[in-house]
Amino acid sequence: MSATYSFFGAVEKSFDKAAAFTKWEKGILEQIRACNSVYQMRFPVKMDDGTIEVIEAYRVQHSHHKTPCKGGIRFSTEVNQDEVMALAALMTYKCAIVNVPFGGGKGGIKIDPRKHSVYELEKITRRYTSELVKKNFIGPGTDVPAPDYGTGEREMAWIVDTYASLKPGELDAAGCVTGKPITQGGVRGRREATGLGVFYGIREVCNMPDVMSKLGLGTGVEGKRVIVQGLGNVGYHSAKFFQDAGAKIVALAEYEGSIYNYDGLDVDAVFQHRKATKSILNFPGATNCVKNTDALELDCDILIPAALENVINGDNAPRIKAKVIGEAANGPLTPEADEVFAQKGILVIPDMFLNAGGVTVSYFEWLKNLSHVRYGRLEKRFTENQNNAIIAQIEGTTGKKVDQKVKQDILHGPDEVDLVYSGLEETMITAVNEVMDCWRANPSIPDMRTAAYVVAINKVATSYAELGIFP
Ligand code: GLU
Repeated sequence: MSATYSFFGAVEKSFDKAAAFTKWEKGILEQIRACNSVYQMRFPVKMDDGTIEVIEAYRVQHSHHKTPCKGGIRFSTEVNQDEVMALAALMTYKCAIVNVPFGGGKGGIKIDPRKHSVYELEKITRRYTSELVKKNFIGPGTDVPAPDYGTGEREMAWIVDTYASLKPGELDAAGCVTGKPITQGGVRGRREATGLGVFYGIREVCNMPDVMSKLGLGTGVEGKRVIVQGLGNVGYHSAKFFQDAGAKIVALAEYEGSIYNYDGLDVDAVFQHRKATKSILNFPGATNCVKNTDALELDCDILIPAALENVINGDNAPRIKAKVIGEAANGPLTPEADEVFAQKGILVIPDMFLNAGGVTVSYFEWLKNLSHVRYGRLEKRFTENQNNAIIAQIEGTTGKKVDQKVKQDILHGPDEVDLVYSGLEETMITAVNEVMDCWRANPSIPDMRTAAYVVAINKVATSYAELGIFP
């Protein structure tokens, strides 16, 4: 990352570009744009070799127009205040677009998780959580963290356990964090949620005949050539859902390098190869690229950056050949790259709603924790009994047996994962259409990101106005 690049500055720039298309007064816009609370902390942790390391960490609450605040916690050596502020701001806009009733937040711990033992990571995570508790920066009604880059279910389990032990008897303690393992109050479908949301979002755009014909592409996902950068949780699942829907994964990139095969790569096989050899390179049948960023510039229909911010910028944007870019990561494109793509007519589907699948399913998990009951528990059997009666009636009146496979599909009452997927699909389709409608209604809006910001600003401003904060 270049020394002068400010991620929060880039978010502010995009915000200002969009604010000009809204009717809100300056003061309201300023309040929405500002970061409300920044908590920077340092704490000592004794490492396995007996030395003491001082850990730098953050939690930022960007907005409180709705509470609790919501957003992940990342573990990375790149963590800094500017980055966490930007990511927290994106959470505000993301939640607004997908109608998830939370303010925006984000956390970060400046460590390389690969350089620590599991025991050290546990100590760091638990200490971080107790620092958050001390300052009232965590709780089911105040601020609810989740996984992000470098964290997952394991870390969320440590967080909920630490929180619950410091708040004995708190009935809703499980709702203090989302992305937990199922056994600790997690919800089925959360792990793949961001990748699945990316897929639903891009698929919806691919099904719009007017948008596809402008790009010179046919409708639908099937047969489209896709490149994914990043094989972490989000990248892996995005690639997998595209492959399952009949798209061709022509290149995959990781930080050690990238590979391509125009006949298509099998995502699971590449994943297993990387696990076994510790590198994506030298996958049988594929060609290695010299640099990991080379894959971004290969010929394809859809490019999905799914790792970190600022990977596509003013330097490499002119060389990108994709027709659609779906931002699965947060902030992978700089404002300079946006301008290049707007000019070239490349469609950028922005992070601020495209990767909202994670927080959407986090919302479902939080609701599950507050209601203390698994989705589907009440209605599954009832629905199956009713469907059984309907099929018996049809078979009785027609004198014909319903096909066994069709019968099983109709009979099946919804499990938790079915309801979570359907809630996510509905959310993503609605969000994409809302942003597209805003863009279609105002053709002077230069790109989809600006249209998304306009939708977000309007929602947050309305909510502030309704709260009576600006009489
Ligand atoms: N870290 C994810 C994001 O950036 C998920 C946040 C959440 O579930 O709260 O959207």
